[in-house]
This record gives sequence, C-alpha cells and structure tokens, in this order.
Amino acid sequence: MKAAFLTGIRQLQILDTPEPKLTSPHDVLLRIDTVGVCGSDVHYYTMGRIGNQVVKFPERVGHECAGTVVKVGGEATGLRVGQRVAVDPLIACGQCDQCQSGRRHTCRRQRFLGNPGEAPGALAEVLTVPAESCYPLPDHVTQVQAALVEPLSVALYAQRLSGIRPGAEIGVLGSGPIGLCVLLACRAAGVGATYVTDLVDERLEVARQCGATWAANPQETDVVADITQLQPLGLDCVFECAGQQQTLDQAVQVLKPGGQLLIVGIPELDRVSFSIHALRRKEIQVLNVRRQNHCTGPAVEMISRGAANVDPLVTHHFSIVQAKDAFDLVDGYRDGVVKAIIHVSG
Ligand SMILES: [Zn+2]
Ligand SMILES: [Zn+2]
Repeated sequence: MKAAFLTGIRQLQILDTPEPKLTSPHDVLLRIDTVGVCGSDVHYYTMGRIGNQVVKFPERVGHECAGTVVKVGGEATGLRVGQRVAVDPLIACGQCDQCQSGRRHTCRRQRFLGNPGEAPGALAEVLTVPAESCYPLPDHVTQVQAALVEPLSVALYAQRLSGIRPGAEIGVLGSGPIGLCVLLACRAAGVGATYVTDLVDERLEVARQCGATWAANPQETDVVADITQLQPLGLDCVFECAGQQQTLDQAVQVLKPGGQLLIVGIPELDRVSFSIHALRRKEIQVLNVRRQNHCTGPAVEMISRGAANVDPLVTHHFSIVQAKDAFDLVDGYRDGVVKAIIHVSG
C-alpha cells in the first residue's frame, strides 16, 4: 500500500509499505478515505519536532482521518464491514491512573496516530485502529466533513472546559482550523458576541462566514484598543489559538476581571511569559487544553444535526501523491488555505 513518510526536514515521500494486519481482536482495519492536514503535522514536517517529541526519519504522519471499515476483529463490537467512521487518533492504555480517572487524553502510555515513535500516521491507504477509536457516521455526513471531526472535538472540549454561559462574550485569537472550530463550538453553545483575529485576511472572511461578530487583522488595526472600545468591561473568555506570545498578551489585556484564558494553540516557542501583575490583579484563570476528552462522538453529532457547519473551513483538496504540495501550501499559509484535505483512496 501507499503511505506518506516524513524522510527529512521538509521532505515527504509516498512510499510502498506492507499493509497492516489485524493482530488484536479489538481492532479494525480501515481503508483511509480522507486526511486533513493539521498544523502539528506541518510542525513535524518543517521542524522535525514539537517540543521534546522528535521525529526519527522515516516516520509516518497524519491523524485527522476518516475511513471505511474493511475488516473487523473478533471482539470488536458495534462495527461492520463497509461502515464509514471518523477516528479519534488517541489510543489510550485504559490502565493508568489517568485512564482510570476518566482522563484518557493525558494517558501516561498513550499513542497518537502519526506522533514520533507512537502509532503509524493515518496518511496511508490502510490503517489498523482499536474499534473503540472509531465513531460511525450518519449517511449524510461526508468523509470530508468527517476529517474535521478531530479538530472540532478539540474545540468542543476547549469550550466545555471553559464553562462559558450562553450570552458570554468571547475572543478567539488566531482563526486557523482550530480557532474556527472553537468559534463554531462556542456559537453552538449559544455565546453572545464573538471577536476573532488572524494575520491572514482570508481566514477572517471564513470566520465571518462561521458567524463571527467582529473579525480583524492585528497587522492592520490595534485589536486590543478596538475590542476594548466595543466591550469596555472586557471579554468573559478568550481562546488563544495562535500559539504566539503576542496573542497571549492581547488575551490578558482584553479579558475582564475573573475572565478565563484558554491556551489551545501549540507555540513554536518552548517558553512563553505573562505579566504576572496583570494576571493577578484581574484574577485571570489560565487553562491549558490538551487535545480532547469524550468529545469525538458529540463532534460527529454536532456536524450531523447541523449545529456546526465545518464546510467553509475546507478550502483545498489533494490526492495522496500530492501530499507534499498540501503540506507546503499549509506551511506557507498560501492561497487562503484553511483546511487542506488529502483524498487517500479513490
Ligand atoms: Zn490535528
Ligand atoms: Zn492510560
């Protein structure tokens, strides 16, 4: 079968590799239909690492995937051949203290699809995954929409972690795929005004299509002054989705006293800093968001009943042999790209 391998910094090759076999009765074999290109995949492609997770080349890549079941293990219940599914890319051990306390997303022995040395990347024609990682799709949810389930589940988890109430005024700083999914999840939860920023104007346009009340580019306007003028009391909650020092600083400035800052973005920096006096005087709650927990099924459901329309996020389509072009496009923020989808089979 064909699979995408990172073979060096900025090197991605489609290579022939043996098809995986079903080795556990709890697993299923999937034909992978679609894979969304994620910022974290591109981090590994351009930097060869995220923090201390370092790629040893060659390494498989990709995790935002949807597939069709082609073989079912003897004890894999609830799935049948031909069924289309979205995939939760995190494989938890089920045994450790974190798993036992309902925190599978911080499992101490977790394996994540396409993470260095953990589990094979999803950008391949066939993949073995635990049956419990698969979420069946209603007929009217497409494989392209299903590739957005993973980022939407992260956003939904961030929204649930925040505890925002209906009518809350929120900021989303950084409107790439995750920021836009946060916007969709918060709007589905009934928030009030939504303030969105990004350096790429096309992404602001998509944010408006996704219902942003206000969207602006910090290179063109003083977003802190503008938001403060429109919301003199400050925002209830800010989702930092850019992973930048500048957006963390802006978040602290636009939040109201007692407000919440959720750090969703993955910084390229290993350390960031805060004005401790600004945090302290406003008593800002800082929450970190690590992937998602128990939100994959609800994310499928949100797409299915139209509570979150992910279609405006899908801007580009590629075949698997064009995977490198997809990664270069996403890395360069070129051509208004938000989510590039790689069609693996067919
Ligand atoms: Zn992702
Ligand atoms: Zn565990």
